[in-house]
Amino acid sequence: MPRDPLPLLHSTFGFPGFRGVQESVVTRVLAGENTLAVMPTGAGKSLCYQLPSVVLEGTCVVVSPLIALMHDQLRAATAVGIRAATLTSVDTDQMKTIARFRRGELDLLYVAPERASNMAFRELLTQAPLALFAIDEAHCVSEWGHDFRPDYRLLRPLLDHFPHVPRLALTATADKVTRDDILDQLGIPREGMIVAGFDRPNIRYTITPKDNTTRQIADLIAETPGAGIVYCQSRAGTEKMAEALARSGRPTRAYHAGLDPQMRARNQADFVASEDMVICATVAFGMGIDKPDVRFVAHAGMPKSIESYYQETGRAGRDGDPAVAHLFWGAEDFAKARQRIGEVEPARQQGERVRLQALGALVETPGCRRKILLKHFGDDAPDNCGNCDNCLNPPGAVDATEVAKKVLSAVFRTGQSFGMGYIEQVLTGVSTERSLMNGHEALGVWGIVSGDELPLLKPVIRALLLRDALRANDFGGLEFGPGARGILKEHEEVSLILQPKRERRARGGRGS
Ligand code: ADP
Ligand code: ZN
Repeated sequence: MPRDPLPLLHSTFGFPGFRGVQESVVTRVLAGENTLAVMPTGAGKSLCYQLPSVVLEGTCVVVSPLIALMHDQLRAATAVGIRAATLTSVDTDQMKTIARFRRGELDLLYVAPERASNMAFRELLTQAPLALFAIDEAHCVSEWGHDFRPDYRLLRPLLDHFPHVPRLALTATADKVTRDDILDQLGIPREGMIVAGFDRPNIRYTITPKDNTTRQIADLIAETPGAGIVYCQSRAGTEKMAEALARSGRPTRAYHAGLDPQMRARNQADFVASEDMVICATVAFGMGIDKPDVRFVAHAGMPKSIESYYQETGRAGRDGDPAVAHLFWGAEDFAKARQRIGEVEPARQQGERVRLQALGALVETPGCRRKILLKHFGDDAPDNCGNCDNCLNPPGAVDATEVAKKVLSAVFRTGQSFGMGYIEQVLTGVSTERSLMNGHEALGVWGIVSGDELPLLKPVIRALLLRDALRANDFGGLEFGPGARGILKEHEEVSLILQPKRERRARGGRGS
């Protein structure tokens, strides 16, 4: 019979009690049952295996995908007196760690998944008692997951080799299909899945189309005090953004994998220590960083998936105080994402497409963002959360179906090869040498967009790109995508969300 975990929760971890589903997860684990814990970032996943590792006889083997993450975890575990070690290619103390394991002196042993297929490692694990296998970031095992790692597939034979050692899979980010897949892949029964609530009520979600992203983010920063993260699309982008935002007077830093390691570590440490720093980073930043008082997370472009969006925005407000998540997106982000899907293995394309559609639904909705987000993770949610842009400031919608048809016709009539600007000129009847030469002024679509439709033109084209009715080719020329047919032939409606005109507040002014 395992010992009562509560005294150890107090004495070792210094926590007054369990949080959320931790208790149910730990209870199952201590009872030797295989479990999948789906818990949002910040919910305290590590405790779910760390506590059993000190309660139970034997070593808990933790599989984790990133060496940096393992070393963070190792530091944290060692700090509270847990006997832990990592066994990775960069560790110079491997022999010592192996000896400690054999003597039964380790509560936690962190390893990378590729070690799992290694016969020497399997043999090593037979030489001392095992308490538990903890599989962190378990969505990596699923091709449906947003971060599939083939090495995770090598785990199953290892786990099956030790049938009496319980398994605990942990993930922050799994939709229903991915969850079911994790259960199958890792041999965990359906009733072994414990899902924590995903809502982060203190985070205010706002999603806006880009126009001048740097200016938009500078405005956001001017009205949002506290430390924040700006996720940029490229390494160069982080440095440019940091430079531009520095002009606001806020301390800023760039962070990406290409910086020299010392500078990267320094920037990260500065950020963790600061109360008002803005760090402009690639998505490499944030994993394993324990900074509870991040007041805002901005995305200067589309995240990779809803899962990534949730995880990245989840780094805001872990202390429970109000925080802001603001995403700036452009139609070109979707076009690029579609292109990337074309490049992945055929077997995974359908899953990726579904994932992208989910992201499209989130940015396009005139309804509650939180509801869409929570529904994606299988949580129930009210229709109105009261703390997202659309709930606070309901957008109007206009029926733009007619304009959409005009745009599609113009694209078709001009031969599906001209860019957005030219199509606009044709539709509004702006005569140029080019339109004359092309003979486009004689087309029925010439000048058919009226003055009051004009403001809808750009948003309509953006909406058409978003729903894959239009695609941009490599040269920016617009052509039909599979979504065009429904609008032209099947009376599908195109309604546009009218972004409520936000008063642009004076720089440096403080929002209410
Ligand atoms: P996750 O891995 O799920 O993102 P962590 O394991 O890093 O979350 O935990 C997030 C934070 O919550 C950490 O600072 C941790 O110390 C704290 N925490 C975990 N469990 C508890 C608890 N039962 N009571 C109070 N704080 C906790
Ligand atoms: Zn809402």
